[in-house]
Amino acid sequence: SLPRKLPAQGGATKALSRLPVSPLRKERRVLVTGGAGFVGSHLVDKLIKRGDSVIVIDNYFTGRKENVLHHLGNPKFELIRHDVVEPILLEVDEIYHLACPASPVFYKFNPVKTIKTNVMGTLNMLGLAKRVGAKFLLTSTSEVYGDPLEHPQTEAYWGNVNPIGVRSCYDEGKRTAETLTMDYHRGAGVDVRIARIFNTYGPRMLIDDGRVVSNFVAQAIRKDPMTVYGDGKQTRSFQYVSDLVDGLVALMDGEHIGPFNLGNPGEFTMLELAEVVKEVIDPRAQVVYRENTADDPHKRKPDITKAKTLLGWEPKIALRDGLPLMVDDFKERLGVQ
Ligand code: NAD
Ligand code: UDP
Ligand code: UDP
Repeated sequence: SLPRKLPAQGGATKALSRLPVSPLRKERRVLVTGGAGFVGSHLVDKLIKRGDSVIVIDNYFTGRKENVLHHLGNPKFELIRHDVVEPILLEVDEIYHLACPASPVFYKFNPVKTIKTNVMGTLNMLGLAKRVGAKFLLTSTSEVYGDPLEHPQTEAYWGNVNPIGVRSCYDEGKRTAETLTMDYHRGAGVDVRIARIFNTYGPRMLIDDGRVVSNFVAQAIRKDPMTVYGDGKQTRSFQYVSDLVDGLVALMDGEHIGPFNLGNPGEFTMLELAEVVKEVIDPRAQVVYRENTADDPHKRKPDITKAKTLLGWEPKIALRDGLPLMVDDFKERLGVQ
């Protein structure tokens, strides 16, 4: 086996951290935590396509092996069943840290586990980044703005978050993850990036994920009524997954720490979203109203000036163009022609 020059455990200095882990390997070695999930698997596709070596670690809580099956057998791809709450030793150049359930249904299912994933999981990945001198990118969320009192939200807004509510395990968990990321940057010199991701949709979302786009699309295909929570006048801004993945890579490769909002500013009420789903899938689709969940943010729309200016990034795919791109995948998995 190859001799490996590793910085001493727990004590990577800045100078040491710039040493390549193995001088015999030239390609970039990238760790994607949560890489068997929806966003992670699309990110892995892009990284593999450009020639990176990719390691995925995932505990399959909301991810599926099927999402990365097409890379198994590629010597540049490695899939490890691992829970980020536990420490792990690996040698990589970059870490995209995505591991965390993103759908409210799943992150509320075991809220203490969600906090452990966000806090201990992020701590472990930052400890790993520090040890091997890897760049670290955190996928944070628009939920750090809570039920926002500023609209649209810029990165300078500190948010309006309930610390003791049913969503707190996720939004306060991500806020702590951002804090940890900045403290490892300031305290240990880790090269970090923070993305605040707004609602994203596309192929490979879990069909019964509980998020609004996957729910409406699956319901319209199954000829079930679309479940609108509350009065349906709350808004979200929906981004197609390939735009997000381009933004994540631009952020990692760029010079700026962030945080950066990564989202599509096109804002829709849930009733407007239902109309678009009707246009795209089935004009006869019906709507039924259900009680809304607690602490549901009333509106959400990113101001993406900062990402446009500093990363040269902006989304390209409007909702009406992106929705049809997930329909075939959903029909196939639902067994509908
Ligand atoms: P997802 O649920 O499809 O993917 C998350 C992945 O992480 C899954 O594969 C899951 O099995 C894995 N995971 C969860 N807990 C883990 C643990 N303890 N150890 C190892 N693996 C674990 O969600 P997604 O939509 O792909 O989101 C990816 C990231 O982006 C998440 O961090 C999420 O918070 C963030 N984000 C997503 C959105 C969105 O709209 N999709 C919006 C904001 C932020
Ligand atoms: N860690 C890890 N892999 C590594 C290095 C660290 O999982 O390669 C974990 C480590 O177990 C610890 C966390 O990351 O729980 C933070 O590590 P750090 O060295 O920053 O802190 P310390 O170990 O001194 O608490
Ligand atoms: N929602 C809805 N019907 C559904 C699922 C969700 O009307 O079947 C609403 C939900 O109340 C929220 C919005 O859609 O106002 C977005 O919810 P989602 O869970 O997709 O993401 P969030 O932005 O809340 O994390």
